[in-house]
Amino acid sequence: MYRLGVNFDLTYITAGIVDETGKILIKESIPTLKYRKFDDIIKDMAHLCIRIVNKYGLDMDKDIELIGIGCYGSIDWHTGVMIYSSYFGFRNAPIADEMKKYVKIPVICDNDANCYALAESRIGATKGLKNTIIITIGTAISGGIIIDNNIYHGMAYGAGEFGHHVIIFGGEQCECGRKGCWAAYASTNALVRDSRIMAVRHPESMLFKMVNGDIRLMSFRTPFEAAKKGDIYAKEIIEAYTKYVALGLINVVNVLQPEAIAIGGKIRKIGQEFINDVNKIVDEKTFGQYEDDKRTKVLMCDLDYDAVIIGATMLKH
Ligand SMILES: [Zn+2]
Repeated sequence: MYRLGVNFDLTYITAGIVDETGKILIKESIPTLKYRKFDDIIKDMAHLCIRIVNKYGLDMDKDIELIGIGCYGSIDWHTGVMIYSSYFGFRNAPIADEMKKYVKIPVICDNDANCYALAESRIGATKGLKNTIIITIGTAISGGIIIDNNIYHGMAYGAGEFGHHVIIFGGEQCECGRKGCWAAYASTNALVRDSRIMAVRHPESMLFKMVNGDIRLMSFRTPFEAAKKGDIYAKEIIEAYTKYVALGLINVVNVLQPEAIAIGGKIRKIGQEFINDVNKIVDEKTFGQYEDDKRTKVLMCDLDYDAVIIGATMLKH
């Protein structure tokens, strides 16, 4: 039997057929066009699922065990209802029920970061560990918590929003409305913001020259590249950024003490060296003196964003 996984993202809906080992056999995407009516979006999602099953020569009823959907928002996984998603503007949107108008097989939904965490814990970086956390660092910071091999959802399915714990009282404005959230310092958006400020202050810097003086061209990779080439201003930015990332992780470790935290999202593209630098600070500053094998490790996620598709097929009621 196969399973169908869907990544229901703000920009794309991607569906894939996944085998029992967690391998994606075929996948296809369509634009989400999120400002449309909910019913129309789900109708397209269902047609996408039906299309790729037919394309792969399978029968939805006979060959596909279930459809798992990883969604951007808070999901009641018992009912398949998207309780709330600020970016979609949905409240109590019955995703599973709406899908069942088009397919007869079971449909299970969960938050996308939870699906990511589940996939990593089954076949990725945190495989074999019982209590783990995945934190995705990109334009925002999110994550999923695995306790005793299962997703921890929280009372209203909103657990894992690591990006919105405050690390600096009255600090930088966060998109959530509060100030000083971890995401306002450790997201890639925050890194770009700080790099732009530094570049404008120091037009002699490589940081400024690498974007030809047009700070709109600054990406999260630019300061890493400039620092590697020896730019002191970029080094300063990266040093501070590494500390901010570590600071949030230390708080998470002090509260939950998981066996490992794996970092995913855009920042994964920077590479293992960055993760090692973060790990070193986390290891030094975490509360408590424990043996080496009893200390939380910071790892890099093995899987890319397709982990949401894979993890969605590993959901169960
Ligand atoms: Zn926030």
